Amino acid sequence: MSDTLAEPAPPTAAGSAEPDQPAEQPDQPAGPSLSPSRATDFMTCPLLYRFRVVDRLPELPNPATARGTLVHAVLERLFDEPPGSRTPAAARTLLPGQWDRLVAEVPALAELFADATEQAAWFEEAARMLDRYFTLEDPSRIEPSYREMSVRALLASGLTLRGYIDRLDIAPTGEIRIVDYKTGLAPREEYEARALFQMKFYALALWRTRGTIPRLLQLIYLGNGELVRYAPDEADLLATERKVNALWQAIDRATSAGDWRPRPSRLCEWCSYRSLCPVYGGTPPPLPPPPLPAPPADALPTGAPPA
Ligand code: SF4
Repeated sequence: MSDTLAEPAPPTAAGSAEPDQPAEQPDQPAGPSLSPSRATDFMTCPLLYRFRVVDRLPELPNPATARGTLVHAVLERLFDEPPGSRTPAAARTLLPGQWDRLVAEVPALAELFADATEQAAWFEEAARMLDRYFTLEDPSRIEPSYREMSVRALLASGLTLRGYIDRLDIAPTGEIRIVDYKTGLAPREEYEARALFQMKFYALALWRTRGTIPRLLQLIYLGNGELVRYAPDEADLLATERKVNALWQAIDRATSAGDWRPRPSRLCEWCSYRSLCPVYGGTPPPLPPPPLPAPPADALPTGAPPA
């Protein structure tokens, strides 16, 4: 969730350039699980993954991530309006109320701006992104089946895929379209596969839970008003499944070895953890102790004294 780049979006608190992943939920699956944001973190830099997932180091919001969250919130609420009322003016009207709601949830957001002028400019950019949305889609002709849809899918490998889909449209024919809003710029062609990985990940999760391969994956880039569309097939999703399983094995090996190597790239510019990164002269904190294994069932106290 963030956004003023041409291609690989800067990593953020949620692990991608967009607020596509609400905070990790308490109802985590019992076995291993992976979201597309965390998978992307590991591919970007194993040390970044460690800081976020193993150390669970907090990250402060920044104006770009906050704007992504706000625009997503408005686009989600826009579909509460009757179709004829889903207008650019209505979307702009939703902005202040959604911002107040987000600030109530995360008070640190209120501290992001030096003054009212800076905040007004930031708001106006969010409003322009919403205006741009209407040049790409006509929401009065869309009735989403789901918004901010939680997906979970257990693969045969034992790995659970999890994540949140911004919008799922299901046609009367049963055809499925997965839609994701991005408040950054559309990626250059060489980075498009990376952007589509998240969408194929969701498509795989839906295929494994519903038995239907989504007809279309659609990324809506509000930073520059472009659409990226892709029609996946079975071979695509099987390849994604192999990739996700291989990624998980690599994460598992890194966890067992405690080997989280930094992988510097231009994305370091947006990394919240540069001060802790050896590449930039920092020292990572000691690794937290591994969680204690669950005791065997027959070792659990029953409340009855031993015989
Ligand atoms: S600053 Fe360090 S931890 Fe962050 S992405 Fe770059 S190499 Fe990885």
